[in-house]
Amino acid sequence: MSSKRKYLREQLAEGDISQARFTAAGDFQRKGQIKIAASEIPLDKEVFCPFCLKTNRLQRFLISGKKGISQSRAECPECHSGMLLRTVLKDWAPQSFAEWVFNYKGFFRKVDFEVWKKALSEKGWAQSFWDRYKQLKADKQEFGVSESENTHSESEIDEAYEAMCRNSEKEAAGSA
Ligand SMILES: [Zn+2]
Repeated sequence: MSSKRKYLREQLAEGDISQARFTAAGDFQRKGQIKIAASEIPLDKEVFCPFCLKTNRLQRFLISGKKGISQSRAECPECHSGMLLRTVLKDWAPQSFAEWVFNYKGFFRKVDFEVWKKALSEKGWAQSFWDRYKQLKADKQEFGVSESENTHSESEIDEAYEAMCRNSEKEAAGSA
């Protein structure tokens, strides 16, 4: 058992033992009200941080305070960005992730764009992500909605997208 899990367990035991318990599998379960959709938090699930894209076990994202483990908020153990627990728990696909990023106001101001873009590419998500992202952007422009503040820099995103397209064409040509 990791020291963190032991710590969490002790926290829970000290808290309300009637409401919280660990199953043999190590899952944290809590009866009664829970703010996230799932009724249990899969501690060992591999999840990634949307801001640095690093993957860690969910357990490392949990925040515990005076009242025990937060049911609604999480924090990345790598970059320490705060986020909603339900965000970390989503089963992301590149497209749904693009939608989330697109709708997150100021997203690209929270990240180092070059580092983030590279990490997305290493994850193998660049093509699908940017396709969806550009589509959302085009739709928004078509409907005459003013540009959101959500963009790091329009031209940088355009350049990144085009460079990515060129690279994937090169790869396709190279493997043919
Ligand atoms: Zn992070």
